[in-house]
Amino acid sequence: MKGRFEVRKILFQNFRVLTPFRMLENHSVVIEENKIKAIGEKDKIEAERDMETIDGKGLLYLSPGFIDIHVHGGGGADCLEGTREALEAMARSHARGGTTAFYPTVTTAPLEQIFQSLEAIREIVSSPIEGARILGAHVEGPYFSPAQIGAQNPDFLRLPSREDLERFLSYREVIKRISLAPELPGALEFGRKMREMGIMVAIGHSDATYDEVLTAIENGFSHVTHIYSAMSGVRRINLYRVAGVIESALLRDELTVEIIADGKHLPSHLIQFVLKNKGVGQVCAVTDAMEAAGMPEGEYEIGGLEVVVEEGVAKLKDRSAFAGSVATMDLLVRTLVYLVGLPLEEAVQLVSFNPAKFMGLDHCQGVVAPGKDADLVVLDSNLEVKMTVVQGEIVYDNLREGAVKK
Ligand SMILES: [Zn+2]
Repeated sequence: MKGRFEVRKILFQNFRVLTPFRMLENHSVVIEENKIKAIGEKDKIEAERDMETIDGKGLLYLSPGFIDIHVHGGGGADCLEGTREALEAMARSHARGGTTAFYPTVTTAPLEQIFQSLEAIREIVSSPIEGARILGAHVEGPYFSPAQIGAQNPDFLRLPSREDLERFLSYREVIKRISLAPELPGALEFGRKMREMGIMVAIGHSDATYDEVLTAIENGFSHVTHIYSAMSGVRRINLYRVAGVIESALLRDELTVEIIADGKHLPSHLIQFVLKNKGVGQVCAVTDAMEAAGMPEGEYEIGGLEVVVEEGVAKLKDRSAFAGSVATMDLLVRTLVYLVGLPLEEAVQLVSFNPAKFMGLDHCQGVVAPGKDADLVVLDSNLEVKMTVVQGEIVYDNLREGAVKK
C-alpha cells in the first residue's frame, strides 16, 4: 500500500509503445499519479529514485487502455442485475482482458429494471472501483423494431414517448449513449433531445430505409450499433430496391460504426468490407459481451432469455441467433490481427482511440502521450494481456514475479 502523501511514479522501460497510430520501438513511458508524464527513447529517460520500474525488455507492447462502449456483462454478472456487486464483477473480469474503461450496457427489459440499473451505475461512477473504470451507461433498448429484435426480449419492446423521455432524462448525467430504431414513431424527437444533452445516439436493432437513416442523421444520430447484427439490408419495396441500415452506414461518412470482432459474429471478410468502406478512423470494436465473458461454457441468462454458451459464443437456447459474445477486448485485438490481417497499430486504434473519440473522450483517453490518462495495457508478443493499469493503478498483473493476480 502506498503512503498517503507518496506520489506514485512508474517507469515502463524499453517497451514497444503503441501510441496507437505508430509503434515506437525501445521507448519508455513515465506515469505519475493518474497521468502519463513523459514518453521517449529508452536511453533518454532515466529511472528516478522513487520510481517503480517495469522492464519491457524491448519485447512487450505498451498500448492505450481498451475502451468498451458496448458490454452487458462479464465475470458471471449482468449490469441489469442493478447492483454494485454485478458492476464490480464486470469491472474486474474485463480488466483482465485489457479494458480500462467501459459503459455497462442495459438491454430491453421492464423500465423499472432499467432505471434500477441506471441508479446503480450512477452511484458507482462517482466512487472508486477495483478494475476497469465505469464511465456511464449505454442504454440499448427498449425502443427497437420488432422486425430486428435479435436476442432482445420481445415482451419488453416499447415505443418512445414523451413520458419515457422525461424519465430517461432524469438520468442524463449517467447515460452517455443510447441505441434505438429511428423509424419508430417518436424516435426522432427522443434521439434529438438525447443528443442535445450530449448523449451519443446510435441506430440499433432497426429496420430503417436509406431515407429514414438520413432523417436520423439530421436529428443527431451519429453511430451504428453492431453493424450487420439486427438491422435492415437492401430489399425490394414494390419494384424498387431500397438500401437499409447496413448500406447507409457503409455509405454515409456522418455515421461511425462498431463491429463485434469476437471472430464469431462477423467473418473476417465482412470486417474487411466494413473497414474498406468506412476507413480505419470510423470503426470501433466492441465486445457486446454477456455475463459468461471470462467464465466457463454452459447455460446462462441474458435479459430474461435462456442462453447457451458453446463454441466460444452465446446463442439463444433454440440456437436461432447469437445472444452476445463472451469476449474480452484482448480477444478482439487478436481477431483483428490474426484473422482479419490488420496491422497491430490499427487493431489497437479500433479498441482505444476510436471508441474514445466516438464518445468525445479523445482529449484525455485512447492515446499514449504526455498529459493523457494513465490507462495502459501491457501485451506480450502473442497479444495476451500481462498487465492493466487504470488511472495509474495496476489493477491486473500477470507480469511481475510474485505479483498477485487480481
Ligand atoms: Zn448489445
